Amino acid sequence: MTAEPVIDQQHPPAALPATVRASLSPSRAADFKTCPLLYRFRSIDRLPERPSVEQARGTLVHAVLERLFDLPAGGRTPDAAGDLVVPQWDRLVTEQPELAGLFDPGDEAGTAEFLRSAAALLEGYFAVEDPRRLEPAERESLISAVVDDELLIRGYLDRLDVAPDGALRVVDYKTGGAPREAFEARALFQLKFYALVLWRTRGVVPRVLRLLYLKDAEVCDYSPDAEELLRFERTVVALWQAIEQATARQDFRPRPSRLCDWCNHQAHCPTFGGTPPPFPQRAGAADPLRDARSRPATPGADE
Ligand code: SF4
Repeated sequence: MTAEPVIDQQHPPAALPATVRASLSPSRAADFKTCPLLYRFRSIDRLPERPSVEQARGTLVHAVLERLFDLPAGGRTPDAAGDLVVPQWDRLVTEQPELAGLFDPGDEAGTAEFLRSAAALLEGYFAVEDPRRLEPAERESLISAVVDDELLIRGYLDRLDVAPDGALRVVDYKTGGAPREAFEARALFQLKFYALVLWRTRGVVPRVLRLLYLKDAEVCDYSPDAEELLRFERTVVALWQAIEQATARQDFRPRPSRLCDWCNHQAHCPTFGGTPPPFPQRAGAADPLRDARSRPATPGADE
């Protein structure tokens, strides 16, 4: 599979080597790991997914937490976060009109309850962190690295904190209401992915990978080491090779699990009596760097 590298216009990777021929985000990699057919539906068939209320709430809470750190440290209070909820929702609906379709026109009670539930998650945030004492180095920033000479791995960090001694802490907000154990492996995979990118680009193994579960107001910290990241790098490369083989053979099998309950594509999945659409022509020659070009429409949508 060959293609000309396509550079992300907003965040061009510094001098993408000419050897790079594919890109992979943690979400897509985790899709393949979870269920190869899910990867196909999302990345090759590109079947539309209607955002769920839960995903919209995650997107809104991520947006509020990002904007909260625009305020002077002393002003990052629960009330200030609450004041950001409605303006951020209005902005998101303007930018992503499909979000407005989540509620029937005139369903003011439903919308109000949704906004209240987002505010409740923010309370969970304040129960585990005091943003007045934090000065994030980066928020919602795109990071990328080339591994194995050919594969660009990239993703958006929720937040990166840098201690005075240079230690890195990667922070990811989890807003979902689904049982945590169903998604924890996926969340950790995503964080290790970011840790690998940071290690490869900055030469520093992040000291802490932190998951903030806002619904439960709980913190889950994990400390990787270089050996583990080296193994993880091999896993990611092997995963990409498996994706390439599956694409060449047009063979993406379903792998049913508890995560099927949250899958948008049961109607097309043989496990649920459905039939996948015809395999897209030229899928094997499709732009394998497309993940490098754009930001997901709904950050936090996996949450
Ligand atoms: S329903 Fe389950 S098995 Fe089918 S594509 Fe979705 S995640 Fe895979």
